[in-house]
Amino acid sequence: MNRNDEQKMQFILSIRSNGVVDENVLNALETVNRKCFLKGLFAQRAYEDTPLPIECGQTISQPSVVGLMTQALNIKNRDKILEIGTGSGYQTAILSKLARRIYTIERFKPLYEEAREIFNKLNLSNVTSIWGDGSQGLMGQQPFDRIIVTAAAEDPPPTLLTQLKVGGIMVIPVGQSDEIQKLIRVERTETHFKYEDLCDVRFVPLLEGKEEDIYV
Ligand code: SAH
Repeated sequence: MNRNDEQKMQFILSIRSNGVVDENVLNALETVNRKCFLKGLFAQRAYEDTPLPIECGQTISQPSVVGLMTQALNIKNRDKILEIGTGSGYQTAILSKLARRIYTIERFKPLYEEAREIFNKLNLSNVTSIWGDGSQGLMGQQPFDRIIVTAAAEDPPPTLLTQLKVGGIMVIPVGQSDEIQKLIRVERTETHFKYEDLCDVRFVPLLEGKEEDIYV
């Protein structure tokens, strides 16, 4: 086994040991090369199960957290998904392997542009990228089967909840930005929203408005 295969095996083992057991999710994590979403020296650390810095002061999520969030969504292959917080595009690429269509929104223009280029390069033709404020969801494409938010809000934004189908699932980190946050799973039933705590996590905050440049 060469060094790359060995690193990849360790990577999947680490993700498994953190609770990701869904074979489809594990396959997607094995298929998508995290290196494509990182730059310079950080690309060499792609197989570490840790968050890493990307442009605009943001982070690419920890792979096992990407796995846990994806698993909690319980994605069906005909699903239409809304993702808030494209960032590097890594989580988006994982979703694109499992669902029919992904709409992903990023508030930083440079991140949006770079991710869009990578999606093109990797031929992820079921991904639509949008530069905008995702806290308001995406009018015109709602309702969604699944919604995933990869930035922390104080509470799940009500607008997003209204854009979820009955029977739909939303996964979102909630809490104050600098403290430990909880990853929660919200399921919309005919009559109400069912909330479930999943685990402690740490994400950058969900902010309002959009940004043109890196330096703000
Ligand atoms: N899943 C991404 C995580 C990126 S960090 C990855 O693994 O790369 C979260 C991202 O959410 C950041 O890029 C941040 O700019 C973005 N974000 C925060 N608030 C937002 C909002 N209101 N609308 C869209 N994107 C937002």
